[in-house]
Amino acid sequence: MLENLNIIDDFISLIYPKICVSCKETLLKHEIYLCEKCRENLPRPKFHINIEESNIRKILYGRIPVFGSAAYYLFHKKTGVQNILHHIKYKKGKDLAQTIGSWMGYELSTCEWIKDVEGVVPIPLHPKKQLERGYNQSEEYSKGISNETKIPIINVLKKDIYTTTQTKKKRFERWENVKDNFVVSENVSQYNHLMLVDDVLTTGATFEAAYNTLVKSGYKGKISIVVIAMATHLI
Ligand SMILES: [Zn+2]
Repeated sequence: MLENLNIIDDFISLIYPKICVSCKETLLKHEIYLCEKCRENLPRPKFHINIEESNIRKILYGRIPVFGSAAYYLFHKKTGVQNILHHIKYKKGKDLAQTIGSWMGYELSTCEWIKDVEGVVPIPLHPKKQLERGYNQSEEYSKGISNETKIPIINVLKKDIYTTTQTKKKRFERWENVKDNFVVSENVSQYNHLMLVDDVLTTGATFEAAYNTLVKSGYKGKISIVVIAMATHLI
């Protein structure tokens, strides 16, 4: 029976070969989403191990007192990582976001700074946008992290009003666009260490708005930040 299923599986792969999301080469049978080569060679920062060296911390300096932080990938335009991000955002890449989340979670489990994190907080999408896409990529990434680290997801942030896509706007406009767009859905003063999770870090305006909302709502604890990818020019 199992053998038959394997034959069917092989046959399907022959007609629709699975390809690497990043380099578009045909995947081998044991590979999921990414080929071995991309798994090993895509640019990755490693500062999550030593929080003092964190570039995320430097970028957000003076805006958010970042405790721990991590980015799984580094990206710039027209690279394999850009293909991954595009897949996650526009092509039903829900499972891929979860898979990368579990890879990140596996590495985070060994970090000292994560030990007292009480909740993984995905940056929310507006419900309208989530309905269009069918999922929130930050939440899927968070699920993978949560599965590996055993830290629960706490959906304390909600999006307030509809915002248009941010990618083509300048920094100031972006800030204006996201400002005050979050609300909290429960008493946040009970927490001492929350980890905000988003898909990408570009200017940090989204995190800043989220953090300010938490603080305004009485949050006094530590903040850590985790993303799937951050722009190479920020390094
Ligand atoms: Zn590849």
